[in-house]
Amino acid sequence: MAADTHAQDAAHRRDRAVRAAVEQGLLDREPVVCLLDVAGIRASAAALTEAFAAAVEPRTPVLHTFAVKAAPLVPVLRLLDACGLGCEAASPGELALARAAGVPAEQTVLDSPAKTAAELRGALALGIAVNADNHQELERLDALVAAAATRSPVGLRINPQTGAGSIGALSTATATSKFGFALRDPGARERLVRAFAERPWLTRLHTHSGSQGVPLELIAEGVRELHGLAEEINAAVGERRVDTLDIGGGLPVDFASDGHAPSYAEYVAALRAAVPALFDGSYGLVTEFGRSLLAKHGLVLARVEYTKTTGGRRIALTHAGVQLATRTVYAPAAWPLRILAYDAKGAPRTGAPVAQDVAGPACFAGDLLATARELPELFPGDVIAVPDTGAYAFTAHYGYNSLPRPAVHGFTTTADDTVRFALARPAQTPAELVTEAGGDHRDALL
Ligand SMILES: *Cc1c(COP(=O)(O)O)cnc(C)c1O
Repeated sequence: MAADTHAQDAAHRRDRAVRAAVEQGLLDREPVVCLLDVAGIRASAAALTEAFAAAVEPRTPVLHTFAVKAAPLVPVLRLLDACGLGCEAASPGELALARAAGVPAEQTVLDSPAKTAAELRGALALGIAVNADNHQELERLDALVAAAATRSPVGLRINPQTGAGSIGALSTATATSKFGFALRDPGARERLVRAFAERPWLTRLHTHSGSQGVPLELIAEGVRELHGLAEEINAAVGERRVDTLDIGGGLPVDFASDGHAPSYAEYVAALRAAVPALFDGSYGLVTEFGRSLLAKHGLVLARVEYTKTTGGRRIALTHAGVQLATRTVYAPAAWPLRILAYDAKGAPRTGAPVAQDVAGPACFAGDLLATARELPELFPGDVIAVPDTGAYAFTAHYGYNSLPRPAVHGFTTTADDTVRFALARPAQTPAELVTEAGGDHRDALL
């Protein structure tokens, strides 16, 4: 029941936001804009925090970080910081965004699989937590830790090798995944235990075994492996050397409805069932959720520019395509998105459904957000809305055809249902596109 109300509230806020975006002229200036539902983001952050707080023993340190790559926008990181969340960064750029948002070093985790020596040195100087990916990186850390004292908690990323989900490209815990220290390869466990025994500064274990397409039980199995390894290390070393478990992110999202299943509470219940001791206070916990915090709260709005019928196929040509929903366009079966139809005034269209292709503006035939989708008939000037695009979609712009990064506006709704927009990222201008394309080096190749 609560979940239904939640979904209805989100749908109501969305309809209000579409109409307000049209009325306030957001789509007059640019033919495509992106919206973020600030109340929805706050609600997801609260749901995450509350689900873990209800499960852990009191006084257990718990740090929730946001995986920056899911929505690398400084105002988003700042909003989540205000909700008590830190950042998980996986590149120097993401780290810079977290710093720009004011996220404290002690609430920041650095995880990328290919950190340079300079990046590692910088993170250790700031006290940012670092998870090493492999033995060579660990040797680099040996030298850096010997050269300069650090406050950074340092851990190892483990690949529990628990198996794939339904999307191969996103499965991090297969036997041959590129991420982390393999756990089940011959001799791997002994080598990991020795690595901790020899390094008193190594105090964390990390895994990120879930993602879209991975069932909760499989994610929980990865965390159980992590916990078991921590117990084994601590028994071998004779003290609680591993004091914190970073269990990653990876909660899948429902792209087919406004529902929020699985919820954080369901994930915590799955963890409790698989690893009851996880919450007993023996270990501090770190999480790194991305998609599940942001995806449902992002919305693309695009004008329908033209409609036509070709070879019996109805096509709506819009301004939202591969630049904003790259995964959907290149792998439509793995990443289906809903499309919602609104008229030119921003009111939901209610006509009888007709099968239509919804095409983007890019110059290649596959630039389609939906094929033969049953929607009320679309007309030029209409608005399509693409929900669930707050993570890994318009925040991961693809620069094909020199299509600009569109504006992102956050929105909030007041008690009397007025919608207020706040610009979170301006649209990229043609001049900025020229600069990005080497405009300042025009004669360089002459
Ligand atoms: C991508 C990533 C995450 C976030 O994953 P989601 O599926 O968006 O929750 C967390 N940790 C690491 C190491 C990642 O690479």
